Amino acid sequence: MPKYLATIGMEIHVELKTKSKMFCSCKNDMELDKKPNSNICEVCTAQPGTLPVPNKEAIKFVQLAGLAMNCNLLKDTKFDRKNYFYPDIPKGYQISQYDQPLCEKGELAINGKKVGITRIHLEEDTGKLTHPKGTSYSLVDFNRAGVPLMELVTEPDFETGEEAREFCQKLQQICRYIGISDADMEKGHMRCEANISVYPEGVDKLSGTKVEVKNINSFRFVQKAIEFEIERQIEALESGEKIIQETRGWDSVKNITVSQRVKETAADYRYFPEPDIPPMLFDDNYIENLKRELPELPANKKERFIKEYGLGESEAELLVSERDLANYFEETVSELEEKISCGEVKSAKEKLFKLTVNYLNTEIRKHLVESQEKISDIKITPENYAELIGILADGKINSSAAQVVLEEIYKNGGDPSQIIEEKNLAQMNDDGELEKIVDKILADNQASVDDYKSGKENAFKFLMGQVMKETKGKANPQSATEMLKNKLSQ
Ligand code: ZN
Ligand code: MN
Repeated sequence: MPKYLATIGMEIHVELKTKSKMFCSCKNDMELDKKPNSNICEVCTAQPGTLPVPNKEAIKFVQLAGLAMNCNLLKDTKFDRKNYFYPDIPKGYQISQYDQPLCEKGELAINGKKVGITRIHLEEDTGKLTHPKGTSYSLVDFNRAGVPLMELVTEPDFETGEEAREFCQKLQQICRYIGISDADMEKGHMRCEANISVYPEGVDKLSGTKVEVKNINSFRFVQKAIEFEIERQIEALESGEKIIQETRGWDSVKNITVSQRVKETAADYRYFPEPDIPPMLFDDNYIENLKRELPELPANKKERFIKEYGLGESEAELLVSERDLANYFEETVSELEEKISCGEVKSAKEKLFKLTVNYLNTEIRKHLVESQEKISDIKITPENYAELIGILADGKINSSAAQVVLEEIYKNGGDPSQIIEEKNLAQMNDDGELEKIVDKILADNQASVDDYKSGKENAFKFLMGQVMKETKGKANPQSATEMLKNKLSQ
């Protein structure tokens, strides 16, 4: 049996979060869409005599996405009609783009591998059909009809479901960074389709028969559906069957793909230039201005964080995963720099930055997950967070006290130094006082002292615990350890 390999290309639709729909002035707001057919007008329901007016913001959003993925932006572009009859497209055709898309020939790297982007174009979304159980009719809701939809097509550069999933996640991150969509798959903002074929090792990677898989509604299912489909095709070929070119749907209950229909080809859609919308022409000046509007992207931000703040690869990766989190970090850093320059904080920058990242990526993340909040909802201002980090780094409190303060300001906000005073959490930095307590603990626990001296290491932990308990956790653990060790060796 030959070894089979897979070739995968992705087609991804993303709903853009513009203020209004693609060709009319209906609001583009999912919240308004709860009641069927409440957010519609003559244009998006294709009443006779109405004309589409393109949404400038949507065009700009797609071009920004193109720039973010190193695409070539076409200066001469247009809309086309894609003809197909389906009850959820009121016009009987979809306004889309065919041979002159807004963007083409880009790339996006996942884990160091470059994935080619064939094109990114703009079109309108369809309405939604529902088939009530136990009835012989279907219902149509046009609220979604005419919502701006970005379609991105990749080169067949993926070899595994995992790579395809990573790409979709990267794309979501970029959409969020540049603010064009929340790209939430569960909410249908982002819909991924995979084109999958398999071939025996050693022949042309495009020689297999392509099968399209639709209805994938989570990142996890992107990977699962592709993995299932690769297995299915290999098994079919190995048992002598032929692969049929078709569209299959992902069944997320049974975890299988199911045949839906035999795929249309471009010729079936009878594309032609949209006669109701003139071609769109862009000059260098427009494109240059757009480039200036593009915010710093996750990959660049990560590199800069590593260089500028001396962070590790994975620390930086986690920080830039969300734009708001990265911003919060940088705001805290600038507060810390101010505190250093006015002498309020004494510790070295490297130490401060490390602590800032560590607490953000662990403690704060833990609180965010528990309360299901986003970093943008947080009650801890970057100033207060910087204050806490400074106090901790300078040894005025120990890490267990820092966690108590953090929990308090996470819940109620407020000034860390005030809370430290109120809760009497300041670290005991008076060695005389600490020595008295250590002496007392040693005197009260002669048995443990003997155990330690006879080589039982655990006795030390017990004694240390007693010291921390007696000082209500305020002893500097390092000083306490040293002092205990000294006294025990005497
Ligand atoms: Zn409308
Ligand atoms: Mn499409």
